[in-house]
Amino acid sequence: MIIDCPYCESKVDADEKGNVSFDTDGLVPHSKFSLVECKICHQALLGYTELIQVGPDEWDWDNLERYWPKKENTVDREIPEIARVSLIEAVICFKAKAFSACAVMCGRAIEGVCKHHHTKARSLAGGLKELKQQGIIDSRIYEWGEALRTARNLGAHASTEKVSMDDAKDLLDFCTAICEYVFVLNVKFERFKARKTQD
Ligand SMILES: [Zn+2]
Repeated sequence: MIIDCPYCESKVDADEKGNVSFDTDGLVPHSKFSLVECKICHQALLGYTELIQVGPDEWDWDNLERYWPKKENTVDREIPEIARVSLIEAVICFKAKAFSACAVMCGRAIEGVCKHHHTKARSLAGGLKELKQQGIIDSRIYEWGEALRTARNLGAHASTEKVSMDDAKDLLDFCTAICEYVFVLNVKFERFKARKTQD
C-alpha cells in the first residue's frame, strides 16, 4: 500500500499490519483505516483508504491518506505540481510574515489551476471566467478567485499599500479551498457517484 511517510519525506510502499473496515455494504467494505509499517524506515503509520474502480469489474484500495502522524503540511499531494509548488511557497511566505509575497504566490497557484485546465485567456481574470464557463468551479468559488486576483494585484505591483496579515490568511484559505475543491473534492465526488451507480 502506498502512503506518504513523514520520516522518509516521500511516498513509500508499506505493509498492512491491521485494519478496521467500515461503510460495509453486504459483505464488501468500501473504506478502512489501516495500520501500516513503512518498508523503508519501519515506522508505524495510520492511513485511511477507499475502494476505487480500476477496471470494468475491478476494484482496488486507493493510496492511503495519512491520519497519523498528523500532517504538518496542509498542502494536499493530490494537487498537481503546477499549483502545488506555489501553494507551498504561499504557506512559507505566510509563516515568514511576508504577506504581500504570500498573496502573489496564491495568485500564482490559481494561475496553475488555469494552466492545468488549458484555459486560453492570458490573464488570470480571463482564466477564472473560463474555469467557471467550463463548470470546473461554481459561482461562489469564482467569487473567491476574483477576490484573490484583486488582492494579488495589490501585492504584485509596487505600491505603499500592504497586504495585511488577516487578508493574507484569508487569501491562503481561499486559495487552498479552491485547489482542494478542484483537485481533491471533485475527484472524491466522482468516485462516490461511481460507487452509487454500482450499487
Ligand atoms: Zn518511512
